Amino acid sequence: MRVFKFGGASLRDADSIRNVGRILQSQGDAPLVVVVSAVGKTTNALEGVVRAYHAQDGTAADQLEQVRNHHFGLLEALVGRDEAAFGNVNDLFVEVDWILEEMPDDPFDYLYDQIVSIGELVSSRIVAAYLQKIGVEAAWLDARDVIRTDAIYREAWVQWDETKAKAESIARPLLARAGRVITQGFIGSTADNNTTTLGREGSDYTAAIFSHCLDAESMTIWKDVPGVLTADPRLYKNVTKLDAMSYKEAIEMTYYGAKVIHPKTIKPLQNKRIPLYVKSFLEPEEPGTYISDEVTDHYPPLVAVEHDQALLQIATRDFSFVAEHHMLEIFEQVAATRLQINLMQNTAISFNICVNVIDDRIERFVALMDKDYKIRVERGLELITIRHKQDSLLERLKKDKVVRLENRLGQTVQLVLRAAPLLEPIE
Ligand code: ADP
Ligand code: ASP
Ligand code: MG
Repeated sequence: MRVFKFGGASLRDADSIRNVGRILQSQGDAPLVVVVSAVGKTTNALEGVVRAYHAQDGTAADQLEQVRNHHFGLLEALVGRDEAAFGNVNDLFVEVDWILEEMPDDPFDYLYDQIVSIGELVSSRIVAAYLQKIGVEAAWLDARDVIRTDAIYREAWVQWDETKAKAESIARPLLARAGRVITQGFIGSTADNNTTTLGREGSDYTAAIFSHCLDAESMTIWKDVPGVLTADPRLYKNVTKLDAMSYKEAIEMTYYGAKVIHPKTIKPLQNKRIPLYVKSFLEPEEPGTYISDEVTDHYPPLVAVEHDQALLQIATRDFSFVAEHHMLEIFEQVAATRLQINLMQNTAISFNICVNVIDDRIERFVALMDKDYKIRVERGLELITIRHKQDSLLERLKKDKVVRLENRLGQTVQLVLRAAPLLEPIE
């Protein structure tokens, strides 16, 4: 069996979903697990609903209504007025209606997962209804019945033993019976059956979990790009596609922020030597990028960019060196506030970390540390990582930027940059 994953871009509108139908039709009757994300930008829209609900600003129900209408419109365009399909989709929205009627007494992250998760549930219902209509039948599987996680909402960790057991007892027999299964990316559930999510963009990871647990022959993620490119084509010109890359290179590249694959995706595949194809849903016949353990050891320079970065300079209030016992304290609070560190550097009197700006995590971290540490926070930075560097490229990337931190290790150079044109003397 193989695993396919279709992301939001491939499900953007009715025509895109018809295209997904054609791709699946072209696979014949080969056994497939199809993992889908929420359609288009639905996750962002649902995040808006959660924020409005949590703030009780009076707009949550209206925002949800827009999401609902958009999905009903899609469903109607794809399958007409199919009562069963409309019922399935409506039931999911009604569950959120009920949440919105109560006061938001639960923690934000918990509420987030209960609400935002319907994006994937609804899209999988819509795609399943359309597939049924075109005769590409697929059994609908609730991913929460298989993917067991801990209870860290919004960034849940997979409990592998339980998940493997559920994949054996639920997903494998369903696939054997139905031949094709459709399920949701991004979502899981705790031992108490509360819905969790695996972190933004987590659907690639879900597909890798299913691939690992069901011993897939291969996994394919269908994207709006021809494959893995040397940099994000939205940010750079002259990018080229890699025909093949090793798991190791893919792990490095995605870890450093190449947004084309979720960083947690590769390891579960590598552990079972399951090849990963990154292919274009716009040109499904093209070979895309093939990722495996067949090592390709020559790479062109690869660039990954992380926006919304902050640099935290942490010093002790008594101006002593940051010593080991300080580190212990710093990391304890980093973990407690789930700060995501992308880069660390130690100097004589400060410990510097470059982190993603997410919600109010930095403020919470600073508040926890304030008693003993002086922390200088510099926002509005970007982190550029270059693998297999080329000096001329490095210089060009620094142009009109101030380098706040630079780090070199093996094949990797990282630059923390602030946009600010450097002064140039008049000639
Ligand atoms: P999905 O539809 O699965 O959510 P994403 O939008 O998350 O897909 O990922 C595809 C996007 O990743 C592309 O449109 C591209 O702009 C971006 N991207 C960033 N880095 C790369 C890279 N190195 N190669 C290809 N695409 C990249
Ligand atoms: N829908 C989720 C998100 O937008 C998960 C995903 O698309 O991978 O973050
Ligand atoms: Mg995505």
